Amino acid sequence: MGAVSGRLRAPKGTHDLLPPDSERFAAVEATARRVFSSYGYGEIRTPTFESTELFARSVGETTDIVHKEMYTFPDRKGRSLTLRPENTAGVVRALVEAGIQEAPRPIRLWYAGSQFRYEQPQAGRYREFRQIGVELLGVGSAAGDAEVLIMLFAFLGELGFRDLVATLNCIPRGDARAAFSRALQEHVRPRASALGDEDRRRLEENPLRLYDSKDPEAAKILEGAPATLDFLDEGARAHHLRLQELLREAGVRFVESSAIVRGLDYYTLTVFEVASERLGAQNAILGGGRYDGLVESLGGQPTPAIGFAIGEDRLVAAMEADARSPRPVFFVIPGSPADVDYALAVSGAIRALAPGSVVETDLTARGFPKGLARAAAALEKPERYAFRASSVRAVLLGADEREGERVTVKDLATGSQRSFARTALGEELGAARDR
Ligand code: AMP
Repeated sequence: MGAVSGRLRAPKGTHDLLPPDSERFAAVEATARRVFSSYGYGEIRTPTFESTELFARSVGETTDIVHKEMYTFPDRKGRSLTLRPENTAGVVRALVEAGIQEAPRPIRLWYAGSQFRYEQPQAGRYREFRQIGVELLGVGSAAGDAEVLIMLFAFLGELGFRDLVATLNCIPRGDARAAFSRALQEHVRPRASALGDEDRRRLEENPLRLYDSKDPEAAKILEGAPATLDFLDEGARAHHLRLQELLREAGVRFVESSAIVRGLDYYTLTVFEVASERLGAQNAILGGGRYDGLVESLGGQPTPAIGFAIGEDRLVAAMEADARSPRPVFFVIPGSPADVDYALAVSGAIRALAPGSVVETDLTARGFPKGLARAAAALEKPERYAFRASSVRAVLLGADEREGERVTVKDLATGSQRSFARTALGEELGAARDR
């Protein structure tokens, strides 16, 4: 180890989550668990790093992610490992490894976790970011796409989002995809001299990836490009129309756009994104789509599948509502160090009598004024308090209370104060709930 010098900082592009932010993220994840499990989706947790080959084979060699954004390193035995840049490949790898062909269909899974991409950090774009995602495997019909989108909007609705609209596209598959790629090349080639090296490479190697370009020149050239929807085979067109019908019936709002192709190679047919006007340049909250070929390409039986990944950092940034449940908060304050034992006992009693509440014992025991100031801050500066308080009460325990086995409770919002026997605590807390 070298000499310690300077202040240690989080690596570029990462950010720490401290309370109350961490509690906001946890509440979003709890909502995800509640909503997704109500549709039968169970949680999956896969490793944070995988063999590099997994991403090359699934996300695609010519995508930006694999080409220039992966955190790839050799381990001590020289195996090439990569911090996961997304979670679908890991989920599919895990299912194939566990013997997906034996599992009853459909398979419904969700996950939440960190993903890693070596991107240029800016507001809303990090090198470590969090995604919440869903995968539905074993359903090839449009009903699968519809379930996933309906559930997604149910989740967003629970978080208070009311105006979001899905942008929907259908990417041709098989021969039709090849024909679309050729048509795209023919459209762009005469104007290719206006493009940078990177986009010219995309044009030749994987023309759909031109849509990932950040160059305004590329966007201009793509404006009049052939539309994906004109290249769909019969089955794909029927799938796309059926999905729209199901979404309309369910009241999921969407618009169609030929320009959504998504930055990963494994998508077939349905792809979608949702953006928020409340975010800046990086306004995409989530993306998803169908990946019918991926399971087979990773060594499993052919299995149709669809999923999405939400950028949790952006989701939380775009939220107006607070997903944290409101909880009664008690600050239990000993009058002096001599009252700490009594304060600990009363704190325990309140936790048992008022489940779901937050009970903080003032272990510093520096007296009532300091303890009350801290309790007041939870009420007056709620944006800095870890929890969302439905009420804030101070429980004052000095020598009088301790000796008389009594409890004094002050409601910080109203200033009203009551003193009663410790044995009446349950009754008093119940009464406070009803008031
Ligand atoms: P993708 O896996 O690229 O389809 O991304 C899905 C969602 O993850 C995007 O819509 C973003 O909300 C989020 N996301 C992707 N990359 C980043 C990043 N570098 N920083 C923060 N969020 C990201």
